[in-house]
Amino acid sequence: MTAVLGAGISGLSAAYYMLQRFGYPATIYEASNRVGGWIRTERHTDKGFLFEVGPRTIRPKGIPGANTLQLIEELNLPVDPIKSWQPAAKNRMIYAKGQLCLLPNSLSGIFKTLPPFSKPLISQIKQDLTAGKKKLKFADESIYDFVERRFGTELATYAISPMICGICAGDAKEISVRFLMNDLFEKEQKWGGIIKGVIFEKLFGKNEKPVSTGIFEEAMPKLYDKARQEKWSMYRVPDGIETLPRTLRDHLQSKEIDIQFSAECREITFTRDGAKMNIKGRDIYPEHIISSIPSYKLATCVKNQHPSLAALLTSIPYVDVAVVNLQYNVQELFKMKAFGFLVPPIERLPILGVIFDSCCFDMEGNTILTVMMGGRWFEENFGKDPTPKQLLDTALQHLELVMGIKEEPRFSRVHVLKKCIPQYTVGHKQRVADIRRYINQYKLPISLCGAAYDGVGINDVILSARTQVESLNISEV
Ligand SMILES: Cc1cc2nc3c(=O)[nH]c(=O)nc-3n(C[C@H](O)[C@H](O)[C@H](O)COP(=O)(O)OP(=O)(O)OC[C@H]3O[C@@H](n4cnc5c(N)ncnc54)[C@H](O)[C@@H]3O)c2cc1C
Repeated sequence: MTAVLGAGISGLSAAYYMLQRFGYPATIYEASNRVGGWIRTERHTDKGFLFEVGPRTIRPKGIPGANTLQLIEELNLPVDPIKSWQPAAKNRMIYAKGQLCLLPNSLSGIFKTLPPFSKPLISQIKQDLTAGKKKLKFADESIYDFVERRFGTELATYAISPMICGICAGDAKEISVRFLMNDLFEKEQKWGGIIKGVIFEKLFGKNEKPVSTGIFEEAMPKLYDKARQEKWSMYRVPDGIETLPRTLRDHLQSKEIDIQFSAECREITFTRDGAKMNIKGRDIYPEHIISSIPSYKLATCVKNQHPSLAALLTSIPYVDVAVVNLQYNVQELFKMKAFGFLVPPIERLPILGVIFDSCCFDMEGNTILTVMMGGRWFEENFGKDPTPKQLLDTALQHLELVMGIKEEPRFSRVHVLKKCIPQYTVGHKQRVADIRRYINQYKLPISLCGAAYDGVGINDVILSARTQVESLNISEV
């Protein structure tokens, strides 16, 4: 029997792929009483709106995007796309130097001097042609340092730093360049510059196929082709993103996969022919474990028998995020049409950014906003245990400061998501390689998927589940 730990989207996907590949059901053990993990939608159907507490949109790009679209297609789920020409896809703003600034969103935009930049972006991009290559001892550095070195301080400060806040609530000065710019970094290390790398690889590179996990050798999913043709920039699931894990749950349960709730795994001991897990005070003996739980939680399960593995797992840091969802009873609370705005850390505001949910999707006459706060700076800004009122007040004060919104929301919700996003700090790739090397060296019957290791987005964690399942031998399940 294979045991899957966690019924977040990654654990559910692992069970789905197990069934698809081997035809064997796996048992899922979930600590809480629901599926979805950080994916949580609060529906207010009577009033025509919903709040997303965690993720809200999925990108349809690349192999990871295609993989999720295939899953969605197989589950027959409808999706609601935002196309690349729509304002919610095109318009992204930052709040800098006391004003909201629209980031360049067209080719002509990069030739103009637009605030907060002091010169056109093209001149910053050109720096890459003259900047030398830096030999790095550990083949890694922060994404901020890399972009500053290649394109200058302004781009690192006003484009990359807020983007990292938006993606992982982290500090670009700590996050590894390999997290988002692995390919550009490799080009620089090989050819001495990014633009040079692009040109040289076009001229001299072997006609290499795009990096593929080999999963779409025959044809790409139909929904992926549709997304490309229609130029989707991102999409959601109409009744809220939680519909995705719930539909997966229903599908798995219809195939007699056992999902055990309130079943937190507390301890794992690896044995000669499998493992022993302690769940609800009962011993369970799976032949193989697929763990999708956060790395620091897995660390507590293995620390008695494998303290060195636990230390490696604990070395992946996590941050807390406060999410404040707001509903206003008016449709046109403000004029800007955009996805939202992000705040570069240099501004030293206690908010990471605001998402204009009702600009992205129809909320039936309501204005819906989500304010994200904390992340890498949670404790610095709010201490260890802020009250919901303190967080709500901070959110509202900053909506007034940045957007001039003085109205009180009709309805609001405050959530503090503790240790919700792993931070891929400099050296992350090596840390994950060390963790997997340890598991291989001791032949531990465990596979790791989920947000801690191979990417923090929904697409990444679904693909990580698939990749781990596909690397299993039949004898292991
Ligand atoms: C605020 C926020 C916004 C985000 N926005 C986006 C977005 O817009 N787009 C996007 O693509 N991604 C986004 N993400 C990332 C995305 O939500 C995650 O990548 C994804 O939900 C992680 O899923 P997972 O299954 O790996 O982990 P989790 O969701 O953490 O699931 C792990 C599960 O394991 C259970 N568990 C924990 N310990 C144990 C144990 N000992 N035994 C048994 N079960 C256990 C937990 O209860 C949980 O259900 C966002 C994340 C956050 C926090």
